[in-house]
Formats: sequence, C-alpha cells, structure tokens
Amino acid sequence: MGYPERIEKVMNEGMADCIALGRPLIADPDFPNKMLHGEPDSILLCGACLQACLKKVRSATPIECMANPWVTASPPGPATPPKRVMIVGAGPAGMAAAVTASARGHKVSLFEQRDFTGGQFAFAVKAEGKTTMSRVLKGMIGRLQQSNVSIHLKQKVTADFVMRESPDVLILATGARQSVPEIEGIEAQYVMTAFEFYEKNKKVKGDRILVLGAGMVGMEVAETLLSEGKEVVACRRSDAIAIDMDPITRNLMLKRIADHPRLKLMPSTKLLDFTPQGVKVIYKGEEIILDPFDTVIICSGMEPDNALAEALKEFRGEKRLIGDAAEPANIEAAFVQGVTAGSEI
Ligand SMILES: Cc1cc2nc3c(=O)[nH]c(=O)nc-3n(C[C@H](O)[C@H](O)[C@H](O)COP(=O)(O)OP(=O)(O)OC[C@H]3O[C@@H](n4cnc5c(N)ncnc54)[C@H](O)[C@@H]3O)c2cc1C
Ligand code: SF4
Repeated sequence: MGYPERIEKVMNEGMADCIALGRPLIADPDFPNKMLHGEPDSILLCGACLQACLKKVRSATPIECMANPWVTASPPGPATPPKRVMIVGAGPAGMAAAVTASARGHKVSLFEQRDFTGGQFAFAVKAEGKTTMSRVLKGMIGRLQQSNVSIHLKQKVTADFVMRESPDVLILATGARQSVPEIEGIEAQYVMTAFEFYEKNKKVKGDRILVLGAGMVGMEVAETLLSEGKEVVACRRSDAIAIDMDPITRNLMLKRIADHPRLKLMPSTKLLDFTPQGVKVIYKGEEIILDPFDTVIICSGMEPDNALAEALKEFRGEKRLIGDAAEPANIEAAFVQGVTAGSEI
C-alpha cells in the first residue's frame, strides 16, 4: 500500500475510508503530510528491503531504515562556522554525508568518477527481486538533487586535485573493489567481477558459467544468468548459501531458484586450480573435477578502495574515511556513517 498513487486509487474508488501505513512511515514519517500538501514526489518510499527495520526489531535495538538514514538521528545543529567540504564518491555513504552536511549550511562539493550517482547501490537494484529497492535509491538521489550540494560526475579525484582544492574538510567515501582470488590457472580463464557484470562493460561469454561466491551478490548474479538461459554453477567455501541475505528474502530467492535444473549449488567447496580439462575442487571433503567454464564471475572478496586515503596522508585538513572504503559492509552502514560524518563536521 506504500505508493501514493495506490492510496489515491483506493480512496477515490471508495474501497476504504482509512488506510494505515506501517513501514512506509518509517521510511518517511511525513508521508501523509506530503500527500495532503500535494508533494507525493518528495516522499521517501519504502523499498520493501526488510534489511534494516526488521533486523533492528529482531535484535530489539532502535529502528533503522535503508530509505531514511535520518530516521533516529537527532537533527544536527547548523554548522558553526560553515566549512568548505569535499566529498569523494557518490555511493550511499558519500550521498548521505553530502545531504546532511549541506543541510547544516556547509558548502559541499561531491565528486564521482562514474557518470551516475549511487555507487554499488546502483548495481544492487539491478538484481532480480530487488527492483523495489530502486525506490530507495531514487529517493536518496532526489534528496541530493534538491540539496545545495554541487555535484561533479565523471571526475576521478586524485591526491594532487585535493591538495590544489585544499578543502577545510575531506570526506573519502570511495567504496570497495573486488579482488580476483589467487587460484592457479585463473589468469587463463575469461573472468569478470560482479561490478563488471552489472555495469555491462564486459560481456558474459558462452553458456556455462561459474559464479565464485554464492553469497547474496553471487546468488543474485546466478538468478539473472538463469533467467537468460545460462547453465550456472555457484560455489562458496562455507556451507551456507546466501547467509548474508535477510532471511525472508533469502527464502523467497531459494524457493525461486534452488531447484532450477540448470543451477548447481556447491557450498563447502574449495577451488584448487583451473586447467584446460576442467576445474579441480574439493567439494564436501572430496576432490572432483568440474567441466570447463566459458566465463567465471567473481562475486566474493571485497576490499576497501582506500588508495586515495593512503595517498593523502599529508593532507592537513580534517579528514574522514567512511562506508565501504573504511570496511566493506552494506548500504545501511554506509548511509549511517555518511549521516554521522555530515552531522559531526
Ligand atoms: C551487486 C551488489 C548488490 C548489493 N546488494 C546489497 C543489498 O541488497 N543490501 C546492502 O545493504 N548492500 C548491498 N550491496 C553492498 C552495498 O551496495 C555497499 O556496501 C554500499 O554501496 C557501500 O556504499 P559506499 O558509499 O561506501 O561505497 P560505494 O557504493 O562503493 O560508492 C563509492 C563510490 O566512490 C566512487 N569513487 C571511488 N574512487 C573515486 C575517486 N577517486 N574519485 C571519484 N569517485 C570515486 C565510486 O565510483 C563509487 O561510485 C551490494 C553490492 C553489490 C555490488
Ligand atoms: S528498512 Fe527497507 S523495508 Fe524497512 S522501512 Fe526501510 S526501506 Fe522499508
């Protein structure tokens, strides 16, 4: 029911006199007021992700929300004095920091090397079954665009650039990158990362695909490949598939694909080497050889992209490293760290 147009339809057609909202009010407590005042486009919509609210309810800790990282933050006071703030990286962490700092009166410039905002979040919403989360991303980008933040896309920030600009405060929200694991023979394979898969700057070749890392990202990539008719083997070292997913979403995903005839799930699997004859693995304690693959997609092994932070050790202004650049985690953590940084500077 959390869409303004649906609510209007139900009310206009006399199907109900009153509508109660649950999660949509966590995402935006001003939802009803914004509808009453004719501002439905400014509502932060719930993305039905269950990734923050439900997790917090289960652990009996204060509520958090992916769509609204400010939900329990106390409103920060105005900036005294306003500072020149440079933020590098327009993923969730950088966007939240920029919007929060700007709302307090700081003069904020946000730089992003890609030609779009959102960072990895823009990849996350491309997965099958996660399209509702695009509402959350859209809401955050809308807030950013309505703010006074000066946004610079397609601009890769270097240490020299920062030293020349010499901001009062530098917030590094450069995210994470994927590393290719060191497995013998992997260099002779056609390999791509999940980032490259979603960014579509590399094409999946052939029909038989190995997904390395059957966590949330790996399983989402596998589901997309299956929908394209590919044959998929998804493996991971530990014995639990997609354990990093919210349990409800995980169960729905497993119901959709676990028994798919073209999917082989291989938990408890260690890859030993790639050879022209196939891939030698230890699967549940036994050595076996899998037939060769046309494409290998890396969906594990995130590492902080903190090269810029390393190169800027000499920077003497106030400096913060937030989000995945500090430690790869998730959207909610990145948002919260962005709000905190924007509130504290
Ligand atoms: C496919 C996929 C699905 C995911 N699904 C989920 C999910 O369902 N739930 C969840 O919580 N998390 C999910 N994640 C993880 C989540 O997206 C990340 O944890 C989160 O986006 C981290 O936010 P961030 O702002 O710290 O970094 P990022 O989102 O990585 O953003 C960093 C930005 O900095 C830019 N940048 C880097 N260096 C420079 C530079 N020198 N100059 C200019 N710009 C620079 C990058 O281009 C990037 O846009 C998913 C990740 C992927 C890849
Ligand atoms: S955490 Fe996700 S599901 Fe929960 S209220 Fe926020 S956007 Fe909706």
